[in-house]
Amino acid sequence: MLSHIRIVLVKTFHSGNIGSTARAMKTMGLSDLCLVNPADFKSRAGQEEALKMAMSADDVVNNVTLVDNLFDAIKDCTVVIASTARSRGYDLPEVTPEESAKLLYTNAQQSKKVALVFGPERMGLSNEDLQQCKYRVTIPTSPDYSSLNLAAAVQTLSYEIFKQSIDLTTESQLDSTKELPTAESLENLYTHFEATLNDTGFIIKNHPGEIMQKLRNVFTRAELDKSEVNILRGILSSVDRATADREKSHQCSLVGSCLGTNCLINERRTSTRDLPVIIAL
Ligand code: SAH
Repeated sequence: MLSHIRIVLVKTFHSGNIGSTARAMKTMGLSDLCLVNPADFKSRAGQEEALKMAMSADDVVNNVTLVDNLFDAIKDCTVVIASTARSRGYDLPEVTPEESAKLLYTNAQQSKKVALVFGPERMGLSNEDLQQCKYRVTIPTSPDYSSLNLAAAVQTLSYEIFKQSIDLTTESQLDSTKELPTAESLENLYTHFEATLNDTGFIIKNHPGEIMQKLRNVFTRAELDKSEVNILRGILSSVDRATADREKSHQCSLVGSCLGTNCLINERRTSTRDLPVIIAL
């Protein structure tokens, strides 16, 4: 179960923090550590620093997965939770540390991959990173200082997860029977939405505004399950087909009208997509 829970560190600056994170993880039974573009972990000095801080968790450090972007770290995951020291510009549903652990653990129990994502030491996670997560968790702290050391934050949330594995007596408030979609299939849904709304003219290509961001917010709040994603994809495909049919019949009627020698087309548009205006004289 715990092996399905991935800790993702985004752009970690100090390799020592990677080692301390590995140690924090191993004490709580976690082993899947993924690094997104760490600053100097790839150098020999960086690896040595990490191993020094890892102590007996050197196996976790030696088995890290290195990726270039957050999407590659989480694309196979159903639940992706961002760990943030404070609420950020991008609005995500918030869960408590205990709820985050329940969500992660119950999905891991169903053999689903899940991830907990931590930001860089100085800046924390960017809005772009947060957009790819489904929930946000913040460890309650003194109002005077809310920023834990990276490995301390990993330790605290990993402890909550570990507690789930040894005591699942409390009833989960969260629906664990839901089959959740992977981050990749949600991303495909958003791409499909954007393409369809471009075709219907709802999104104007050169002035897209914030429509897609707002739609993402709606779907994140809705906590879609796998079958709901499939239904939405099906609806979008039916809109695509209807748009294509309308285009076709519109073009046919234009061509039909132009078959005579002198014809001036002044017809009402049935499609929102821009077609060349045909004026045959
Ligand atoms: N200066 C940054 C904090 C960076 S600390 C900021 O203000 O956002 C590095 C990482 O540790 C954070 O990105 C976050 O993932 C985690 N972290 C630190 N304090 C936390 C807290 N109170 N709750 C949850 N995560 C925290």
